[in-house]
Amino acid sequence: MNKLFTGDNLYILHGLNSESVDLIYLDPPFNSKRKFDAPVGSIAAGASFEDMWNWSDVDSLYLEEIINNYPFLVQFIQTIGRINGDSMKSYITYMTQRIIEMKRILKNTGSFYLHCDSTASHYLKIVCDRIFKKNNFRNEIIWKRLNVSGKESQYKKKKYSSNTDIILFYTKSDDYFINPYRKLNEDEMKIKFPYGKFPNRYKLGTRLFRSTTAGPRPNLCYEWRGFKNRSEAGWALSKERLEEEYQKGNIVIKNEKSLERRSYEKDYKGEPISNIWDDLNEWTKNERTKFPTQKPLSLMKRILLTSSKENDVVLDPFCGCATTCIAAQQLNRKWIGIDISEASSKIMIDRLSDDSALFKDFINIKSPPKRSDIKEVPVSNSLRQEIYNNQKGQCNACDLQTDLRHFELDHIIPRSKGGGDYFENYQLLCSSCNRIKGDRPMAYLLLKIQKINKLHKYELSFS
Ligand SMILES: [Zn+2]
Repeated sequence: MNKLFTGDNLYILHGLNSESVDLIYLDPPFNSKRKFDAPVGSIAAGASFEDMWNWSDVDSLYLEEIINNYPFLVQFIQTIGRINGDSMKSYITYMTQRIIEMKRILKNTGSFYLHCDSTASHYLKIVCDRIFKKNNFRNEIIWKRLNVSGKESQYKKKKYSSNTDIILFYTKSDDYFINPYRKLNEDEMKIKFPYGKFPNRYKLGTRLFRSTTAGPRPNLCYEWRGFKNRSEAGWALSKERLEEEYQKGNIVIKNEKSLERRSYEKDYKGEPISNIWDDLNEWTKNERTKFPTQKPLSLMKRILLTSSKENDVVLDPFCGCATTCIAAQQLNRKWIGIDISEASSKIMIDRLSDDSALFKDFINIKSPPKRSDIKEVPVSNSLRQEIYNNQKGQCNACDLQTDLRHFELDHIIPRSKGGGDYFENYQLLCSSCNRIKGDRPMAYLLLKIQKINKLHKYELSFS
């Protein structure tokens, strides 16, 4: 069943199983709370990026994941703060928390597309290089944005107008599906393969002889079925390959003087797609909603057709007006959409329900899901004992050593924020530490109990 979640994607991502999704596309909003639905870097938004992001957008509950597993990113994010200010630091931290989860959810054979623009793409690329590993970076795709204008602003701003977005494409390993070819329509096919009749249309293929300027190649000089190389530069292919092509029907003897090399439409995979996407800015009829950062279906379909197969699961954690979900549905992919805004979930539900009877095939869920790929551990005396032994009889925060019966069991991440009854999410705290912490992050508690000198790394969360 396709799923549409309404809520903070951080908690929802935490509840999705590891390696359960084949393709992730995200187009994160300019602002986490959607006060202004303007895209990052748009003209309307350009001046106010700093007003849109601050540390309160970052959920410190999940910072430990970065601090514990990505110490380089902690340093990097602090550096961003020094270069670009606290807003950018907050934005990149917010994105880092989520990208870490997305990588976990993505299958090993999966692909990841992050839609952004030059406001933050250079910072996000370093974050992704670190999380996905830099050798899994595949392309920086340049997409020519819709409604390109901005002459006025260009004049005032004394710079070129900025008409493109950037899509960073990563995979999780070298083993991934890709089909980077565009199918031509019938008119284009007629031009491409002008000879013969369907389905045996063909074009004249590459030449049979090497260019005379390429220099002599004695091993490519030979006689074949009465034909000889034209110059000492020789044939373009070996005698064996030539015969092979002839047997396949790709080389035709027209008469005793001329040969023809053909490429048939049946062997044609499509036009190779480059990293510059300037051919995808057409809206189809009835496609527009009032959603300001809406992307065209043609863009989503390109990504889905290139990097997923039928029945694959596609995830869009900032799904806005559900364009990804609709493209997925139309192309027979399964989908999961997440969006924080009730308003956008309404647009989505209308859109999904309106488009066709097919689109009733989804459920709207308003609470974080529970992972089914890790075992929940009910609270028990033996669980308490095991954690007690792991912690060597000490409070997990203040190191106080005491009897098991004086400790209280705490969920490191509260259940309301997507933290489950998982072994890794339990700890024992002394009662005074547990009282200070409440539903707050561990970083807060540790800071409170004067571990500052040992834990300067927590500067990320509370500086
Ligand atoms: Zn304690």
